[in-house]
Amino acid sequence: MPTVLAGDRSLASVIAHEISHSWTGNLVTNRTWENFWLNEGHTVYLERRIDGLLYGDQFRQFKALGGWKELQNAVNTFGATNPLTNLVPNLHEVDVDAAFSSVPYEKGFALLFYLEQLLGGPDVFLGFLKTYIQAFAYKSVTTEEWKTFLYSYFKDKVEILDNVDWNGWMHTPGMPPVQPKYDMTLANACILLGNRWTEAKASDLSSFTAADLKELSSHQQT
Ligand SMILES: [Zn+2]
Repeated sequence: MPTVLAGDRSLASVIAHEISHSWTGNLVTNRTWENFWLNEGHTVYLERRIDGLLYGDQFRQFKALGGWKELQNAVNTFGATNPLTNLVPNLHEVDVDAAFSSVPYEKGFALLFYLEQLLGGPDVFLGFLKTYIQAFAYKSVTTEEWKTFLYSYFKDKVEILDNVDWNGWMHTPGMPPVQPKYDMTLANACILLGNRWTEAKASDLSSFTAADLKELSSHQQT
């Protein structure tokens, strides 16, 4: 593992992801591959919470937005009506390797990030996750069990939960029915610099300095 730690710690997310799997993946496991999003969505969620602790919530938001774009790429690649882009796909007689994509990671994350915003914010949602992990430790879990547990944990917010388009999120191909909100501070810094580059004439190029890039983290630069 030390080999993936770059000098500026930009690959710390990879480590955070694998550490998070000790809770969501090893301790609590998806029962079938159709429920793979339970492993990966929760793990990406925890990975980004760790990113947020290390680099601040704006950075977590920036990574979350990057995940939405990655999901868009996957949906474009598979096609927006392809059932393999369902969060909970039917993998009966489907080659699991052919089905592999970032969909369970990023659609799963987007659902949890959306629920976090609906249900009262990061701290409230982390309380749910801790209880979920304790409740299902050393067990395997299905999406239905996860959802039943979510409803029982937020029994004072059932009305909010009933307004979630569960079928749209879980059993419909393409992009999710709702896009979560993202803090755009860091993304906008990239867009501004990009626009300056695009609009610059060759004679202006000397106005760009290494300092422009230094203000952006390596994640923003890629
Ligand atoms: Zn993973």
